[in-house]
Amino acid sequence: MASNARLDHRNPLVFDTHELGRRPGALQRLTRTIDAPRDLGIQGVIGVPEGAPVELELRLESVMEGVLVTGTARATAEGECVRCLEPVELELEADFQELFSYPDADDRGRVIAEPGDDAEDDEDRFFLEDGLFDLEPLLRDAVVLALPMQPVCQEDCPGLCSECGARLADDPDHHHDAVDIRWAALQGLAGSMTDGEKDEMSGAEAGVDEKQEK
Ligand SMILES: [Zn+2]
Ligand SMILES: [Zn+2]
Repeated sequence: MASNARLDHRNPLVFDTHELGRRPGALQRLTRTIDAPRDLGIQGVIGVPEGAPVELELRLESVMEGVLVTGTARATAEGECVRCLEPVELELEADFQELFSYPDADDRGRVIAEPGDDAEDDEDRFFLEDGLFDLEPLLRDAVVLALPMQPVCQEDCPGLCSECGARLADDPDHHHDAVDIRWAALQGLAGSMTDGEKDEMSGAEAGVDEKQEK
């Protein structure tokens, strides 16, 4: 989707290229720390919490067609180990590069795609709007690519015990023999009860017999 909404220069993810100028070869470096937008990362897996700081380092280079944006984003991502469900924190470094074309670049030399025609091609292209560009889609793609699809707390996390759910990394010798102990206890109990009952019963019978004889 080409962006239709006008860019707002007050949005921290919108950058201004006016200072750079349109002379090819001109360079500008800038850094900015922003609050992470919502859902920055892989949803339900790992991501940068909304509002957490994201450090941006950008290099803007004026080229014939527009502005080439190269940069790095650094932030701390939070998620959950897919094996043992413990919280996972990850220092994230995501690189990106994209050309933002001048809107009128198409007027010179290039074949203009009719709206709706060749829409897929258009989706992949980014344009400057009044000298501004929106870094957000670029940042989102870069962050997702830099994050693991299956984060783990440690490379060889053994996960959880299938019997009781205990975290095996905390207790490597974890095993279950509770069933055997219970079985042994039941057997012992059954044995002693049988002996006692026999004695009581025989004693009672004897007593009754004595009373009847009198
Ligand atoms: Zn784990
Ligand atoms: Zn267990």
